[in-house]
Amino acid sequence: MTRDNLRLAVIGNPVAHSLSPAMHNAALRACSIEGLYSRVDVDSSGLAEQLAIFRKECFAGFNVTIPHKEKVVDFLDDLDSVARTVGAVNTVVTEDHRFIGYNTDVTGFQRILGTRIPGHGSALVIGAGGAARGCVYALTMEGWGVTVANRTLDRAEVAFRDRAEIIPLDVRSLGERLGRTSLLVNASSAGMNLAQETPLPAGVTLTPGITVLELVYSPLQTRLLREAGEAGCSLVDGLDFLAAQAADAFHLWTGRRLADAFFREAAESELTIPTSASQSGDPAKGSLSVRAGATASGKSGA
Ligand code: NDP
Repeated sequence: MTRDNLRLAVIGNPVAHSLSPAMHNAALRACSIEGLYSRVDVDSSGLAEQLAIFRKECFAGFNVTIPHKEKVVDFLDDLDSVARTVGAVNTVVTEDHRFIGYNTDVTGFQRILGTRIPGHGSALVIGAGGAARGCVYALTMEGWGVTVANRTLDRAEVAFRDRAEIIPLDVRSLGERLGRTSLLVNASSAGMNLAQETPLPAGVTLTPGITVLELVYSPLQTRLLREAGEAGCSLVDGLDFLAAQAADAFHLWTGRRLADAFFREAAESELTIPTSASQSGDPAKGSLSVRAGATASGKSGA
């Protein structure tokens, strides 16, 4: 399917540093599709108005990011079954002038699980926000047993009571649980823009049998990934997740399927270097060199 002058966007707040325009504009060029993917910064009070503008201006679709993934559901005409179950939308497609909500965070994560983390066992997810919702859904659909640890226990209870075991984010609970965990997912914001921050309480140690999947991608080399790498864990970084959801969104809008690696490379080329040192203000940490095709992952690309 090729459509002329395809108009696409990402809405969020803040959205200035979104890597989605770089990924999707590169994909449009690679597929010789005339169009433009832009970013629109809108707060919650402007959400309805912005969607009306997209409708009037015949946008083919848009991505939704923090903090609108759950709220946007109220303004859509329909949801696919995954988005409805998860209660969050990251991709909207205009079909016959109707806005249909999808969740490619889930489908992208399912593909990462299938291609990079074969088999299934026990997963520990840290966080209870929108990203954690998608991860827990994808993991349970793929047959994983899931435990959720969150700083605010009540929030995890409300979100996951029926889907996962809930434990406090403390050293005793995590230490005990990690001995039976083969996949640790950081779906919290801990480490985002703070190179010294980690979701793991002091005293928690990681072992080589664990794969650590990080959702934070700014900085790309988080403290969690660095320490997990030092402990001999297998690693999947936040750009792998970002690329996978982008590939699925692009496919929904255009019918064209590009490799996850294409989107990852486009995102990497947009990343500002240095990352962790400048964000932490710690010059001793040095800069993280990111180049096309390079990955913080301990496993090969999908
Ligand atoms: P939310 O704001 O909905 O949730 C944030 C979660 O992080 C909450 O569970 C919160 O705990 C927890 N948290 C925040 N700070 C800390 C901390 N210092 N220590 C421990 N827990 C903490 O955000 P989202 O779920 O939408 O996103 C979470 C992260 O995932 C973000 O960094 C986002 O950038 C990233 N992400 C990456 C994607 C990718 O493509 N790579 C896609 C989607 C998200 P509490 O409930 O106690 O406040």
